[in-house]
Amino acid sequence: MPAMFQLDEQSQMVGSVIRQWCQSTLVPKIPALEAGTEMPFDLMKKMAKAFGFDAMLGGAVKKRIAKLRTGDAPPDDDGEKTLSKSMGNPMMMHVVVKELSRVSPGFAMGFGVSIGLVGGAIVSKGTADQIEKWGLPVSTMQMIGSWCLTEPDAGSDAFGAMRTTAKPTADGGYVLSGSKTFITNGPGADVFLVYAKIDRGEPEAERGLATFIIERTMAGVTVGPPFKKMGMRDSPTSEVFFDEVKLGVEHLLGGKEKGKGGRTDTKDSLGSERSGVPSMAWGIIERCYDASLAYVRERKQFGRAIGEFQAVQLKITDLFLKLRTVENIVFRLAWMQQNSIKDMPYINASKAMSAQLAVEAAMTAIQIHGGYGYMEELGIEKLARDSKLLELGAGTTDINLLAAARQLIGVTE
Ligand SMILES: Cc1cc2nc3c(=O)[nH]c(=O)nc-3n(C[C@H](O)[C@H](O)[C@H](O)COP(=O)(O)OP(=O)(O)OC[C@H]3O[C@@H](n4cnc5c(N)ncnc54)[C@H](O)[C@@H]3O)c2cc1C
Repeated sequence: MPAMFQLDEQSQMVGSVIRQWCQSTLVPKIPALEAGTEMPFDLMKKMAKAFGFDAMLGGAVKKRIAKLRTGDAPPDDDGEKTLSKSMGNPMMMHVVVKELSRVSPGFAMGFGVSIGLVGGAIVSKGTADQIEKWGLPVSTMQMIGSWCLTEPDAGSDAFGAMRTTAKPTADGGYVLSGSKTFITNGPGADVFLVYAKIDRGEPEAERGLATFIIERTMAGVTVGPPFKKMGMRDSPTSEVFFDEVKLGVEHLLGGKEKGKGGRTDTKDSLGSERSGVPSMAWGIIERCYDASLAYVRERKQFGRAIGEFQAVQLKITDLFLKLRTVENIVFRLAWMQQNSIKDMPYINASKAMSAQLAVEAAMTAIQIHGGYGYMEELGIEKLARDSKLLELGAGTTDINLLAAARQLIGVTE
């Protein structure tokens, strides 16, 4: 691990090539992605190929499969670590997300959900066969993944109010029914990681939670049209419906039921999802700071650069501090990942704080840019729209802060 608070050479290099790729390849596509006339999935695949993610991650995942087959790895070994270690160090993935988020937080989100959440969960919790069949292609972006927890009536109360059920069948399989909403990558995903309660006729409160890997082409799976949204328009979101989908046990993540312990798998994924939000906030704030700094030096009013006015100067310091604060949060998260430290209150609270700072930074940047900031051309208004999602997705700000408080105090409610 490099010295904290300073990017190691490898991460700097990755950051700079991703930034170039964003300018040459991603930025020109943003209008079509935002308008929904183009989907981002081919571009995600191209990016993974261009930067050798497929080779890098694929190699690590194959090693894990071999270890599982020979019994050299405990089944609950942390596969998430396998993925981030294969990238050299965990900071590199944060830098990739940061660079993408400078121009398209939605693209970063879709990419992260597929590789990190879905790929990570299958590689860390799946059997060797599941990793080979789904974990490998999702981790190498040959397949796109969606992570399906939220339901129309189960948002913050995702576990308690969950209605999607999997009924065991006589042949050892399941029949799964239910619907999920607000699903990132839904319109283009090949594989859905679906959370459901196992229904053996017991009272709802006693049902265990399980995770299923479901392919888009299976009978009974349908996907709604992309939602029209305030922001993150370059990340297609939809409902996904499951109508009596017949699943063999090979679709049950990990190959066996864990009863109420199934929630732990979901909570691990939630932790990893929340750990990804600060690097998105980092990219948004860094772009706001860079653009604002350049603008206050060049924009003249009353015969002077606006950077000479104290009210404007204060806004620059505010953006600078927000940038350094979130950057430090990401350094700490990377250090925690490197050292396998799961500090959940920190993950929950820092996710909430980074999201808030990103929203505030985007609004401040618009204020600094005046009317030009409100226009689409500069791309700052997009960051303001997109940043708001960080306060909602992966648990709302209040839910994350309350979770951190409960963990710190040691109470359940
Ligand atoms: C663009 C987008 C992409 C998404 N992608 C995915 C995805 O890929 N997969 C997925 O599973 N989900 C996804 N989500 C869903 C997201 O995780 C939920 O929106 C989020 O968990 C909040 O749930 P909700 O929207 O139902 O809000 P609700 O739970 O209805 O909350 C409404 C309000 O009530 C507050 N509230 C609720 N309960 C409490 C409480 N106990 N104490 C205090 N306040 C409370 C909340 O903080 C919020 O302000 C996505 C959402 C969006 C908008």
